[in-house]
Amino acid sequence: MSSGLWKSVLVTGSSRGIGLQLVTELARSCNRPGIIIATARDPTTSTDLQELSKTYPGVHIVKLDVDSQQSISSALEEVQSIVGNKGLNCLINNAAIGFSMDLNTVTPEAMMKTFQTNSVSPLFVSKTFLPLLQTAAAQSSGMGIHRAAVINISSILGSVEWTWGESANFKNYAYRTSKAALNMLTRCLAVDLGSDGILCMSLHPGWVKTDMGGPHADLTVEESVSGMLSVLSSLTEYDHGGFKDYRGQNLPW
Ligand code: NDP
Repeated sequence: MSSGLWKSVLVTGSSRGIGLQLVTELARSCNRPGIIIATARDPTTSTDLQELSKTYPGVHIVKLDVDSQQSISSALEEVQSIVGNKGLNCLINNAAIGFSMDLNTVTPEAMMKTFQTNSVSPLFVSKTFLPLLQTAAAQSSGMGIHRAAVINISSILGSVEWTWGESANFKNYAYRTSKAALNMLTRCLAVDLGSDGILCMSLHPGWVKTDMGGPHADLTVEESVSGMLSVLSSLTEYDHGGFKDYRGQNLPW
């Protein structure tokens, strides 16, 4: 990981899986961000997260259920008091849900629930935390995680162009459409926030062995996260509004 770039970072859904590994690897880095805000909807259930905050200075655990505006607003107040007048440099919208639902099994309820968590919530988390990102952006120049960034953890399964071929085996109406919507959210935010100097992008972690990815996935969570952190560390204005994977390769929308 590049040194000195990471100042403050907030990760949603860091109780387990990729989110937990993101905050863990950031905390263990010798160039760790001064402030790591690990959020979870019920932090008491994640003993790994509790251990992390006891072991490493600068790791703050904040309760955040991304599906609740009240919870997002309470988290904002808490985060504001942690970051103070430096603002927040990097928001990683990682929390998501995914059920396997094909044309026979998909329901309106599953579609709406998945859209709420995977597409609507990242918008309202970003919108609520925008003043803190703007505060950070106003104190620096250029574009990248050293200044201010919104990183949406997306999926190649949200790529409309990639729906045919091998990918056609992943029958999941709710998850795939929610990640396609998240990708459009990335683009819309990029249009609106670019002039503030806030970089916005979608990042695909690869197929990862987590509760969501399952045991047969290609990558360990360590491999995926170390790749993603190295991609994030080298972002510039040329990556604004982009869609990349954990190796830094550009992906088709
Ligand atoms: P997991 O299912 O292992 O973890 C999901 C995380 O999201 C948990 O921490 C969970 O918290 C949290 N979460 C879910 N709903 C909410 C909510 N309402 N509020 C707050 N937190 C919530 O998933 P992964 O770690 O595998 O996935 C992380 C990201 O990577 C997701 O965006 C996913 O779509 C994406 N991704 C994953 C791939 C993979 O192969 N694993 C492939 C491509 C993309 P809790 O413990 O409380 O349930």
